[in-house]
Amino acid sequence: MKPIIDAHLDLAINVLGLNRDITRPLDEVNRGEAGITDHKCRGGVTVTLPEMRRGGIAVCSATVLGRHRPGVFPSEGFARYDIDYATPEMAHAAGLGQVAYYDVLERQGLLRYLNTAQDLEGHLAAWRAAPETTPLGIILSMEGSDPIISPDWVDFWWQQGLRFASLVHYGRGRYAAGTETEGGITEDGRALLRAFEERGLALDLTHLADDAFFQALDLFAGAVLASHNNCRALVPGQRQFTDRQIGLIVERGGVIGVACDAWMLYPGWIKGSTKPDVVSMDALADHVDHICQVAGTSLHAAIGSDLDGLYGTEQTPHDLQRISDLQKLETILSRRGYSEEDVERVLFGNWLRFFASSLPSR
Ligand SMILES: [Zn+2]
Repeated sequence: MKPIIDAHLDLAINVLGLNRDITRPLDEVNRGEAGITDHKCRGGVTVTLPEMRRGGIAVCSATVLGRHRPGVFPSEGFARYDIDYATPEMAHAAGLGQVAYYDVLERQGLLRYLNTAQDLEGHLAAWRAAPETTPLGIILSMEGSDPIISPDWVDFWWQQGLRFASLVHYGRGRYAAGTETEGGITEDGRALLRAFEERGLALDLTHLADDAFFQALDLFAGAVLASHNNCRALVPGQRQFTDRQIGLIVERGGVIGVACDAWMLYPGWIKGSTKPDVVSMDALADHVDHICQVAGTSLHAAIGSDLDGLYGTEQTPHDLQRISDLQKLETILSRRGYSEEDVERVLFGNWLRFFASSLPSR
């Protein structure tokens, strides 16, 4: 089995927000969630650590996710899986709780942080030699930088293992305008980008509003990637990249991970209404292929599955029921004429190259 590098999984928020033990086998977790109705994703789980091993997920970027939303008030109610906090300090603490969970898994030998290029390369070599026993390798990332209280805190998060971050998630953040809004990078965002560049963090362009996207490329000279982002030419909507945006990322040597959220794969998908039978994993291959066509090479398309990203199988392609199904991409791409070398780039090679050059050297 070929290894897979998945650049976006919200592992810890699912554990802490949904009380979900991802160290257990997938079917067991789904049985345990049957009948729970507090969140639409219950019982449609696709990601657990044993399932990642079954699927050859050798490395993933595991996220810290928490948003600062001063407009959220306790009177409106607050569920444990909510990700909005009234102050940056609260988002910081919640994010650090997620890191604490990853730390425990590391102490128990279930995962290992890949903090340097050597960590990554050594880990992949170990995984290839012993895929059944090598723990999952994680590169710590942040989805939206709200848990970073101010640029002064970048170094603190670097010490926790943080190696790349996006500035914002959905909505208008403290650092930039995000998905479903319009606008640019804020003054605080500009300062944060300088701190990222100084410290050596890579910038994840995912979730930036269009103006913010172009400003970020001008303001930030470090390594850029898009951990989980699809193509607007195939699925209209500001959450996806235009061909021009894809071209600019390619020019900067960046890599784009295609995401498995059906809403980003099927034009006109209505959350909570459209059913998964309308979309298959071929759509995922369509986005991989579009990035390759725009780039003129297979060197920039990869996987950022975002599976269990606050949704479950109610919002994935119908033939993607477990993260191990990602291995089907090999067959789908081969059938489309991708060479073995091209397939390997998409499954792991492009992220390996990108992170081997953007992670610090020991
Ligand atoms: Zn996302």
